[in-house]
Amino acid sequence: MSDSLKINVMLIPDSGLHLAFSEGAEWFTGLFPADGQPGFRLMQADVECLVTKSGETIYIRGTLHVRLCMDCSRCLEPADLTVGGDFTYTLVPDQMETSDDLELCAEDLEIVGYKGDFIDLAPMICEQIVLLAPMKVLCGQDCRGLCPCCGENRNVVTCNCQTGIVDERLAVLKKFKINNQQKG
Ligand SMILES: [Zn+2]
Ligand SMILES: [Zn+2]
Repeated sequence: MSDSLKINVMLIPDSGLHLAFSEGAEWFTGLFPADGQPGFRLMQADVECLVTKSGETIYIRGTLHVRLCMDCSRCLEPADLTVGGDFTYTLVPDQMETSDDLELCAEDLEIVGYKGDFIDLAPMICEQIVLLAPMKVLCGQDCRGLCPCCGENRNVVTCNCQTGIVDERLAVLKKFKINNQQKG
């Protein structure tokens, strides 16, 4: 599947090349070293993009829909989420990268160099997926997380220590107030 993301520059027609493809977990993990995997699992990435060429400069405009699986930041159970977004890249042959014209607009555009007749979309798609992934996710807005006392998942188990902790804190607070009043 991964080879389908390699494009022969010479074969891009004047009207542009329209691509649509899906990639999964195996493809994504293969793009990272074993000890440098991202903090989420890719379930599926659906990509649509239009590749156009002007001289030797190649423009890529695309849309990405991604299903991810991450551990809920409160209860640590796997949580699915869907993210999406648009992206653009401009590719120039490597020897052109330092030209003055391109440096001027480098701030606004993602400019990537390419060598030879092939460009590989995989690193760009991968970069976009990483950018779309949030740092934290909740399995639900009402996730009650893990009990700080016994470590049970409070979405699943109602432990007895929960109220104990709250009471204890209140008790400390009450005692603190009483002590201060006595001093004052
Ligand atoms: Zn949760
Ligand atoms: Zn507990």
